[in-house]
Amino acid sequence: MTERIPCKTEGCRATILPATAAKTGGFCMPCHQWQARQKEQAYIEQHRRTVNLYEGLTDRVDILKLMHAPRRYDPLIQYVPYPLSKEELYVSLTGEEANRMLEYAVELLGADDQDTGMDILSSLVCYRNENIAGCLPILLELGVYDPAMVFKDALPELRDLLLEQVEGDDGNRNQILLGLAWIGDPIVVGRFYEWRLNPPQWTERLYVAPEIYALYAGWELTADGERRDLVHSLNYAIKLTDAPKEPAAAASAARFLTTSETGCPWCGGKLTTLMDADASHPALSYLGLPQERLQVETCERCGCFGIIYMELDGQGAPVWSRFNEEPDYLPFFDPEDSVVVPGLKPVLSSEPRSPYHASLWTLAQKDSQIGGHPSWVQDAEYPDCPCCDKRMRFIGQVDWADFNLGEGIFYMFICPEDMLTATVYQQS
Ligand SMILES: [Zn+2]
Ligand SMILES: [Zn+2]
Ligand SMILES: [Zn+2]
Repeated sequence: MTERIPCKTEGCRATILPATAAKTGGFCMPCHQWQARQKEQAYIEQHRRTVNLYEGLTDRVDILKLMHAPRRYDPLIQYVPYPLSKEELYVSLTGEEANRMLEYAVELLGADDQDTGMDILSSLVCYRNENIAGCLPILLELGVYDPAMVFKDALPELRDLLLEQVEGDDGNRNQILLGLAWIGDPIVVGRFYEWRLNPPQWTERLYVAPEIYALYAGWELTADGERRDLVHSLNYAIKLTDAPKEPAAAASAARFLTTSETGCPWCGGKLTTLMDADASHPALSYLGLPQERLQVETCERCGCFGIIYMELDGQGAPVWSRFNEEPDYLPFFDPEDSVVVPGLKPVLSSEPRSPYHASLWTLAQKDSQIGGHPSWVQDAEYPDCPCCDKRMRFIGQVDWADFNLGEGIFYMFICPEDMLTATVYQQS
């Protein structure tokens, strides 16, 4: 039997074969690899350069183009980030600059860089609510239907083409139905209703009835074939403020992410008040609530495993609903455990933003908001009101990632008739 020798690292108890020792200079394999990594790391640190690609650039269009350009990963290069995010830059563009971005997107689509082209088009539609109807025929020609929401402002001729195409195009039917849902005009609503009454044969190959696609565009088809909106277009971001002192008015108008006094009957921890806002705020006043404030509470732990309903009493105080059904599976939670930090004070933006700002979760913006279209991470999921069975309206969402609290989004809903709120949670 060959005699094993101890590894040369002080404190390492491994022994190795002489053959290994010859290869590694007397160290065991794990120690040898650790040394190699240390050496590589030291080399990187010594030779890493800081590169600011934005230096000298003043034109916002040039800056955005650079942000969209693919960047090769190189451990020896440390890129300086631009002080503004993509979404902030898009919002700040003038109309003329936005047009230049649109032209650039069309150029990229023609040059076979569809991913970047569509990213730019989607950003223009989401962050600015830019009408890109003029570009849509190009997308149709190229057979690009994803993301479907960019079709929302399609002109009647293009809508009719889609209505025709959806009957025979098995490969793109899903996206075309979504596109039609986003168009959502009376002609589309009428067609969805016809499909409900007389389902065409191709509906057998769908996972859900055609009308369910409407939910992804923020509306539903009612029993009598009408469009009923489930979202509200006024959209205000919930954000962390960099201003040291936000006007007191903004702070009292809405508070977010505070710990409630009420306990969760399932895990024993405290509930979280996702939102406590003035019901007369423009983003909520359309609900016509009789109370002064609207509070949405959930359990940040149990709420990840099912819908949590809260019933609002005469004063608007949330009470754990008798309709809540404990999920079949709930892991053990330490009731003291909370992701919400006491010092965190998100505020409501003073100016509204595009209703579609966060509607594409994949574009990676800050999603937290009151109003607007939800950022579905998974399927569109509007809970039914347990009192009247109607789908509840979306009133806002809180994305943990926006506040560095982890990941996942809590979506908030209300049935204003029955004074009931609900939360749904999704994560990737
Ligand atoms: Zn060792
Ligand atoms: Zn709980
Ligand atoms: Zn109801």
